[in-house]
Amino acid sequence: MSSIGTYFYNIFHSLYTVVVGMRITIKHLFTRSATVQYPTVKMKIPERARNRLFVNIDDCIGCDQCAMACPVDCITIETIKSTPDMDLGMTSKNTKKRLYLPRFDIDIAKCCYCGLCVWPCPTECIVMTDVYEFAEYDRKDLIYSFSNMTEEEIAAAKVRLEQYNQEQAAKKAAAVPAKEPAPPAANPLPPSVPDIGKA
Ligand code: SF4
Ligand code: SF4
Repeated sequence: MSSIGTYFYNIFHSLYTVVVGMRITIKHLFTRSATVQYPTVKMKIPERARNRLFVNIDDCIGCDQCAMACPVDCITIETIKSTPDMDLGMTSKNTKKRLYLPRFDIDIAKCCYCGLCVWPCPTECIVMTDVYEFAEYDRKDLIYSFSNMTEEEIAAAKVRLEQYNQEQAAKKAAAVPAKEPAPPAANPLPPSVPDIGKA
């Protein structure tokens, strides 16, 4: 191709490329938008999507099964046994509560949203919600504490348990029969024989 031919070919090719590009652009001007104006508009997330965890602490029996199932150890639970004189009530699934929960923390920064903690829960009180907007500036703010006990309540529960344990130990000690005096030795040593040879 001569240089004149190449010149016109390049002009034609440039125009053709622009027309093809504009054809696609113009076509999309009249098609339905696929984007949403987040955060003003939010997409509906699937019903079973796994997002932020929530614990209904009133239904928790402190069994620790969720924490044991967690592959990244992001659930920390501490419990205190209740004493027989205290009634902690029942869960909504009719399970008797026997443990105080001074601590139930989930470090959501470590969570991988696997959902493995949800399935073993016998009272179905730990669930994944549809909340996905919970960014924080400080990682410490991503530790969620679900315990509703005050420091005073925790201290009182510990004192009650300590007193109860001491009472039980005292009762146990009192119930053990006193030891009988030891019987005399079966074969006492023979009385010493007088030394006749020296008389
Ligand atoms: S969703 Fe998975 S990683 Fe997150 S707390 Fe539950 S078990 Fe742990
Ligand atoms: S498995 Fe359920 S009941 Fe047991 S400690 Fe976890 S949240 Fe509470």
